[in-house]
Amino acid sequence: MTINTPITVAYGDGIGPEIMAATLHIIIAAGARIDIEEVEVGEKVYLRGISAGIEPGAWESLRRTKVFLKAPITTPQGGGYKSLNVATRVSFGLYANVRPCVSYYPFVETKHPTMDVVIIRENEEDLYTGIEYRQTHDMVESLKLISRPGSEKIVRYAFEYARSHNRKKVTCFIKDNIMKLTDGLFHRVFNEIAVDYPDIENETWIVDIGSAKLADTPEAFDVIVLPNLYGDILSDVAAQVAGSVGLAGSANIGDRFAMFEAIHGSAPRRAGQNLANPSGLLLAAVMMLVHINQPDIATLVHNAWLRTIEDGIHTYDIYVEGVSKQKVGTKEFAEAAIARLGEQPQTLKAVNYTSAPQHERYMSVASAQPTEWKDLVGVDIFLDWHSGTPDELGGVFKRVSGDGLELTMITNRGAKVWPDGMPETFCTDHWRCRFMAPTRGATISHSQIIALLQRIDEAGFDFIKTENLYNFDGKVSYSSVQGE
Ligand code: NAD
Repeated sequence: MTINTPITVAYGDGIGPEIMAATLHIIIAAGARIDIEEVEVGEKVYLRGISAGIEPGAWESLRRTKVFLKAPITTPQGGGYKSLNVATRVSFGLYANVRPCVSYYPFVETKHPTMDVVIIRENEEDLYTGIEYRQTHDMVESLKLISRPGSEKIVRYAFEYARSHNRKKVTCFIKDNIMKLTDGLFHRVFNEIAVDYPDIENETWIVDIGSAKLADTPEAFDVIVLPNLYGDILSDVAAQVAGSVGLAGSANIGDRFAMFEAIHGSAPRRAGQNLANPSGLLLAAVMMLVHINQPDIATLVHNAWLRTIEDGIHTYDIYVEGVSKQKVGTKEFAEAAIARLGEQPQTLKAVNYTSAPQHERYMSVASAQPTEWKDLVGVDIFLDWHSGTPDELGGVFKRVSGDGLELTMITNRGAKVWPDGMPETFCTDHWRCRFMAPTRGATISHSQIIALLQRIDEAGFDFIKTENLYNFDGKVSYSSVQGE
């Protein structure tokens, strides 16, 4: 007797219920061995005053099934609503966002007929931790956090994905010519892990020129791995360049949990009219079927879908006179796909999934036992100050130096303004004052910092934050200063 796999399903808002019904209709007709637990998420839940947009009972179902097939939801206008996707990613540790971006030329219009790129985006860190502050009248701050275990997990996932999907190359996008520590760490980890995969080519691009290349010549790429923000932006660019955001699905993968969804939103203006294209959600469901070890059903559904697209049976969003044969609604598209179960595409490349992806298991990276020597060598003290020039601040602040800590420089928005600043540099009310031991590299103590803050407070200054400066194994591990 076959045992069904329980999955949690949310029908979502707008076009969500229609495309979910079509998707489930197709995969069940194909023989998907699933038991559905339905939960409510989205607009109705938000409007009931639940700020994460998901019923508390739904978490129970997700904890039980560990597999979530989710239709798009509408986020109500106005503040106070949290992103359901961010809540799910963070709560269940969904560290990898996988988005295949494939063109279906000549059946779906695209400038890039042979494009077949998989974007693998880090999903938990970077600027998306949402740690932000307003510090002064002029200045707000957002923290970009990149960890070694977080980078190792996503980079290893990308190489394992490439290997198990018979892909030839993994490309890393970063901006470490500017963000030498954060993007520099991601780059270093990429280089270290690439060594374990000699069978797979690897390369690195600076994200700006890499993005230009991706938009212009996507055929040059195979698997791309990148930090969260760049991945967010570039996965939409890649899906659009491939033909349509309406055709792409995505998987959010964690060690013990996974969520599958279309990449588009709830398109409320198209809702309830049997117009929407279910393809994005259906392709997400195909990834889910592979994930729950039903590669036979995934293959059947994916090939039937390719054949439907190839036969010119298109919803309005991809319908083109002369290319398409028949304009259909959501329900008719689903029926056409079901009628083609068991058929193969003739021109497009057929798929053949053989097993659940091994790369989705045991990816946990334990935080390594620290072996490096860490020395506290200085402190940056940030001030809210708007009463004078950099030289005046330097003059006053020289007087709070002492007790083994000397003011070495002041910057404003990263530019050095004291000593020997340029009179032209525009200054805001947000200042950074760097204090170091008089002998370069000599260590200082936390009590010296506390005493310094005491003197700064007594001198009447508003310090808004401090950052300790460390050397790891004697190596300077904080940014140097522009103009230094
Ligand atoms: P959208 O993706 O919902 O729609 C943009 C346009 O794309 C639509 O007007 C429609 O013409 C077209 N479109 C999208 N999906 C389609 C499909 N399957 N078939 C045919 N046409 C399709 O983006 P939006 O209008 O910016 O957002 C609408 C709502 O969706 C917002 O409330 C937004 O917050 C939400 N949203 C949710 C998710 C999610 O749940 N993962 C993702 C993005 C946006």
